[in-house]
Amino acid sequence: MLALRRWSVRNAGLHARAYRLLQPVLEALRPLFRAFGYARVEKPVAVIEAALKGLFFDCSMCGYCLLSANGMACPMNCPKSVRNGPCGGVRADGGCEVKPEMQCVWVEGWRGIQHIKGATFPLLPNAPASARNAGTSSWLRMARGEHTPPPICGAPAKATDSELERVLAAGTFAVTAEFSPPDSADPADVFAQLAHFRGQVDAINVTDGSGANCHMSSLGVSALLLQAGFEPVMQITCRDRNRIGIQGDILGAAALGIRNLLCLTGDSTVVGDHPDAKPVFDLDSMSLLQTARIMRDEGRFLSGRKLNGVPRLYLGGADNPFAPPFEMRPLRLARKIAAGAQFVQTQYCFDLDLLESYMARVRDEGLHERCRILIGVGPIASAKTARWLRSKVPGVHIPDALIARLEGATDPRAEGRRICVEMIQAIRRIRGVAGVHIMAPRQDQFIPELVRDSGVLGGRRPGPLPATAGKAAASSPTLSPER
Ligand code: SF4
Repeated sequence: MLALRRWSVRNAGLHARAYRLLQPVLEALRPLFRAFGYARVEKPVAVIEAALKGLFFDCSMCGYCLLSANGMACPMNCPKSVRNGPCGGVRADGGCEVKPEMQCVWVEGWRGIQHIKGATFPLLPNAPASARNAGTSSWLRMARGEHTPPPICGAPAKATDSELERVLAAGTFAVTAEFSPPDSADPADVFAQLAHFRGQVDAINVTDGSGANCHMSSLGVSALLLQAGFEPVMQITCRDRNRIGIQGDILGAAALGIRNLLCLTGDSTVVGDHPDAKPVFDLDSMSLLQTARIMRDEGRFLSGRKLNGVPRLYLGGADNPFAPPFEMRPLRLARKIAAGAQFVQTQYCFDLDLLESYMARVRDEGLHERCRILIGVGPIASAKTARWLRSKVPGVHIPDALIARLEGATDPRAEGRRICVEMIQAIRRIRGVAGVHIMAPRQDQFIPELVRDSGVLGGRRPGPLPATAGKAAASSPTLSPER
């Protein structure tokens, strides 16, 4: 099956032509389908469609076919059901983050697009799949003239009262850092970790079950950070909740005064401490961004039901310029911006050449003017850790030269911090970069040193939020949906 699937991508041009011929045929058959009744022809057509598309594309009959939009590679073969890929975990050889033995379906799709005359990577995001339409015929939907749902893009965003947004909008080079929630129900365990962040960062990202491991929730920790006077960026993934749960959490977060939301697809459950958990992935990072944007800008749920008070949120996403297919990454950023991303934070940067060429493409397209780009950095403790990161964390790219430098150092831990400082200084000089995002799990104590030695703050000291920040927002939840 996999071989036939690969053959189909290699011959995407042929399949795309067949699909183009199919459309008028189905439209011509419309009166016949109507005469028989769509409900009556649904089953036999779906059986034929499933057999043919199953054979050539491993089709799972999601009901809204995206084959022709993705170089004839079916996105539903993605283990995380990403309909707006690729995710940031694509391996160096193009292999899937979750199933390394198969190529990422989006890498295959990108290759397929090259085989289709005149085809381009769509810059508008695809809508999420509909569980109600699973197993039904896309061909009949094509015959009815309702082939794919229109991409959902809301009105342009207006400023929120996010402190991070204010800093970035002022053109200040921003510093954010990642916070790992504790395995505890005691708020003291959160507060105890905060000393290293105070006065060093403009905002703190709170991870949401990172690596698919269970910890205190990002919503709970973000609310505690607000209490402590910090600006939280609440990460929210699609792995553990469907669109009903996610939208509820978005409203809850906004009601608590959280103003920054980082929308992620999330790591696969198979890599975490609960590999038997059922992954959800009802939405992906882009449809999550679209959902949050619709709630904020259109004052409604994804279902269309009106909100009484809208969530005032500065919306962000993740980006990975360091994973293949490199040429596709700036296009994917454009798509993420169309979905609603106002800022992105990237995977660790250890390769300045790759970043430079990515940013050149970003500047050519003017994407840095539409979205603030913060580059991920972090200290590596040893050559062994670097090798582990490179082989075990999909999407992390570390050049051999950097590993050799760590290997030759008398104090590898200090060398790792020196490399991080140099990286921050070099990144700061790249036009279009709006800030850095420090990821130092279990090395939080070095954040003040990294910030000081790199001079990244240029003498400024990010202040605590006003004591009323979270409370003020929480006491005025009924903001006009018309804003
Ligand atoms: S690498 Fe990511 S996007 Fe690609 S198939 Fe695997 S999980 Fe899906």
